[in-house]
Amino acid sequence: SDHALDYPPAPAAVDWAAHYPAFAATGKVPALADVGCGFGGLLVALAPLFPDELILGLEIRVQVSQYVQDRIAALRTTHAHAHPSPGLYQNISVVRANAMKFLPNYFARASLRALFFLFPDPHFKQRKHKARIISPALLAEYAYALRPGGIVYTITDVRDLAQWMHRHLAAHPLFEPIAEQDVRALGHADVLDAVHSATEEGKKVDRNNGQKWLACFRRRENPQ
Ligand code: SAM
Repeated sequence: SDHALDYPPAPAAVDWAAHYPAFAATGKVPALADVGCGFGGLLVALAPLFPDELILGLEIRVQVSQYVQDRIAALRTTHAHAHPSPGLYQNISVVRANAMKFLPNYFARASLRALFFLFPDPHFKQRKHKARIISPALLAEYAYALRPGGIVYTITDVRDLAQWMHRHLAAHPLFEPIAEQDVRALGHADVLDAVHSATEEGKKVDRNNGQKWLACFRRRENPQ
């Protein structure tokens, strides 16, 4: 359930050392977040790209988040000795959470450098649009958690949802569109490749020869 007792009251109350034991001494908090991470394909792809950053997936389904937790534990064990200390995959973790309600419980103001929304549930019906993970109210929360210059990555195979996400993000005063080639030029080409194809949903769209719409936005500076 979404009972408040399931959630930390504030980001400072989260035991990040339990999630990332190899980083416990650093005092680091997550800097990249995958909202609705599903089976964790993006987390696994990002882990070696940002070895010094903590990456967190949020997933609402209990069994799916448990699967991701088990997947990460297995990867950590397998790669514990094959790589120099602290080994691979120590920097990724997952929480079972309703990100639409409890994101501010996990991420402090301006703590994130990237937020990922990959193939979110489309909620086709008009009356269900308020259930979409991109909405005017939620964008204020995403802007709060992101530091200026931070990037929101969105991708979907649903044209209507692509237009919806683009329209709302483009209309928000704290976000500006950033072209795919400019994200690549920032040195994030391998991130974009992962966004396109590393997730289970992205692979499914590939198998079905489906179309994908990517859109990236940069968190602007706070107005003076
Ligand atoms: N991003 C993954 C991928 O590309 O493979 C999963 C895509 S799947 C279509 C959407 C995921 O978002 C599902 O796993 C679903 O359980 C999760 N989800 C939906 N609403 C959520 C919410 N409010 N908070 C967290 N996760 C949510």
